[in-house]
Amino acid sequence: MQAEAPLYDVLNYLPEGILMVDERGVILFANEAFSDMVGYENDLLLGLNMLSLLADIDVFTECIAKVMREGKSLNADTDFLHRDGKIIQAIKSVRMIRKNNHIRFFVNVRNLTDVNRLNKELLSSKELIEHQARELSVLLTSKNQEIEEILGSINEVIWYIDNKTLSLRYVNNAVEGIFGFTKEIFLADQSLWQQQIHPDDRALVQMFFETLAPGQSQEIRFRIFRSDGEFRWLNSRIHHHPKLQLFIGITSDITSSKTQSDEIAFLAYHDPLTQLPNRAKLKLQLDNRFENSPSSPFALLFLDLDNFKNINDTMGHEIGDKILIEVSRRILETAAKYDFCARFGGDEFVVLLQDADTSNIDIFANRLIQIFKTPIQINELDFFLSTSIGIVLYPQDASNGEDLIKHADTAMYEAKNKGKNQFVYYHASMQRAIHNFLHIESLVRDGLSQNLFELYFQPLIDSKTLRLEGYEALLRLPHPQEGFIAPDIFIAVAETNGDILLIGKEVLRQACDFITTLRERSDEPFFIAINVSAKQLHQEYFAHDLLTYLEERSIPPAFLKVELTESAVMENIDIAAVQLTQLKKGGVRIALDDFGTGYSSFAYLAQLPIDTLKIDKSFILTLFEVNSHRHIVEAMSNLAHVLGMSVTAEGVEGSEHFDYLIENKIDTLQGFHLCHPLPKDVILQKFKNKDLYFTPAPSLGYTT
Ligand code: C2E
Ligand code: CA
Ligand code: CA
Repeated sequence: MQAEAPLYDVLNYLPEGILMVDERGVILFANEAFSDMVGYENDLLLGLNMLSLLADIDVFTECIAKVMREGKSLNADTDFLHRDGKIIQAIKSVRMIRKNNHIRFFVNVRNLTDVNRLNKELLSSKELIEHQARELSVLLTSKNQEIEEILGSINEVIWYIDNKTLSLRYVNNAVEGIFGFTKEIFLADQSLWQQQIHPDDRALVQMFFETLAPGQSQEIRFRIFRSDGEFRWLNSRIHHHPKLQLFIGITSDITSSKTQSDEIAFLAYHDPLTQLPNRAKLKLQLDNRFENSPSSPFALLFLDLDNFKNINDTMGHEIGDKILIEVSRRILETAAKYDFCARFGGDEFVVLLQDADTSNIDIFANRLIQIFKTPIQINELDFFLSTSIGIVLYPQDASNGEDLIKHADTAMYEAKNKGKNQFVYYHASMQRAIHNFLHIESLVRDGLSQNLFELYFQPLIDSKTLRLEGYEALLRLPHPQEGFIAPDIFIAVAETNGDILLIGKEVLRQACDFITTLRERSDEPFFIAINVSAKQLHQEYFAHDLLTYLEERSIPPAFLKVELTESAVMENIDIAAVQLTQLKKGGVRIALDDFGTGYSSFAYLAQLPIDTLKIDKSFILTLFEVNSHRHIVEAMSNLAHVLGMSVTAEGVEGSEHFDYLIENKIDTLQGFHLCHPLPKDVILQKFKNKDLYFTPAPSLGYTT
């Protein structure tokens, strides 16, 4: 292997721990997977004695003694200690090599405790790639030989293939032991490895590579034929490395392990966590149906748990896993014997229902919804879950497996959009909804590339003095072909596809332009309030970048206000709190928008540096139609004042609303009754003419 081979990266991206220790146990090399496993920085591990990381030293020393006596490699079950004291169940193989009178042990460690966590950490190691890329060029030359040696002496087959062509780019010596062909033969014929796969497993392997997302690691078991025609069962753990455009894998022969081959076959088509059939099995099942009974109708239900990610992120994978197991048990209990249930992936399940009569499907889907009514109890904690279900019918909705799943997924999303915890039948119009999304997306892209976006400004009026306090900046997309696109439509699309980040920058730029223009014309204090989406707020440097930008443009931060919705803040309150505190410290004021429509958790809000509550316009618009709305507005206003916040009412459309809000001490008013959002030129014209935005009702006797 030549120096361009990313061997160093390969070692670090192997989903298993690799260690090189000397005869005393001092660690000379450890890869990232190992340092992740034991919770130490890689640098700290070097020089450390491996014995200090072992839960049971005797097992290991015995193993080393045996390796030294017998001079070959050995497998041993050993527990390691995580830095935080937690025991990590691991297996390892130890192999000794002698070189220039030195003895080196290569230890291959595989974490059994938490394979999922490891995957997650591998995923999050993107930053590491960048760090490594810098160091790589230096390290490669010196390390390559050493690494080649390490790879060469590992018992497992280590390899990597091109992520597009699947042709073999590297394999270590161990391949000969399993396949019977030497490493050189494999490298000379880069697709040989594929030809050796058992014909029944080829589709499985193919699909595996097609679905292994960039940055992810997964495990697969399949059969191959050796050079002598004998078949073997292999287990591979594979990482998809997008930057290197490689699949990197570690493969071992599991044929002779104590597991029976039936059991292995079971594992290939079943999810190890829930024991349910997996996605590969679902595909086989569907293919069988289309082939054997193409005219029998059936229904496919696609379930996705609501908010499961939150539980997983906050409570940890261990609890997440237990919940998934319990959910599968409940699904199985609900399904009839001849219905087919599979775990599609993550928190997604699929049920194939023999009975395609819609009233029966309704009953069944309702029962699936009901199984979540009883909380799932784990470690004496109650977890309340729900599910969103998309339903497709064969043959009406689709005639092949791929389309069935795709449409069911579409319907499932529709169920989520409608508020989750329900089922929705697929309908062709949903495709149109997707089509519609793509259409809006393309208009947003036009807006960005052709600078079509334009801010309008709506005055905010002080209810005591009736003077102008500031303006809310509201974005408009006047499209040359499509006319005005409402922000409610394009913002939602931009939030979904991430374009909101670019849009946010444009909004800030235009808002700052306007601040500068207004400051040139008057010394009166005012502010511009910009709307900020959750995605923007949750960027690590949001507050920092915003403050820097103001500084660059010599704009005192008091001229800017930021409007955030409750849900944007609550989506990740910890990150939001950090950003808000930083903004506040920098002198930018903060308003909580659409208040009353979301969590309305005053307990949380009291802890955040919020200056203003903006009561949602839905309360104001129906102030006199819905009795409770007046009470709610008063209560929100009182509470906000107690917490030292000012209160803004938006959506002030009528004079009676206006009077009522003034009487009830709402500090700031915004609405069509006062002024519509206006383009900046109109505002500047009004400014010039000393034109008031609003002439107060004479009945109240206001003077200006
Ligand atoms: P929002 O932040 O709640 O903005 C207030 C909306 O109420 C604006 O709608 C405004 O035109 C409208 N409005 C003002 N007075 C009245 C009234 O008296 N009656 C009624 N019925 N409506 C009134 P708009 O401009 O269509 O914006 C809709 C939403 O789009 C905004 O709601 C905000 O969530 C979002 N949006 C607008 N511009 C931006 C932006 O620059 N960035 C982000 N992230 N979101 C934006
Ligand atoms: Ca707003
Ligand atoms: Ca609002």
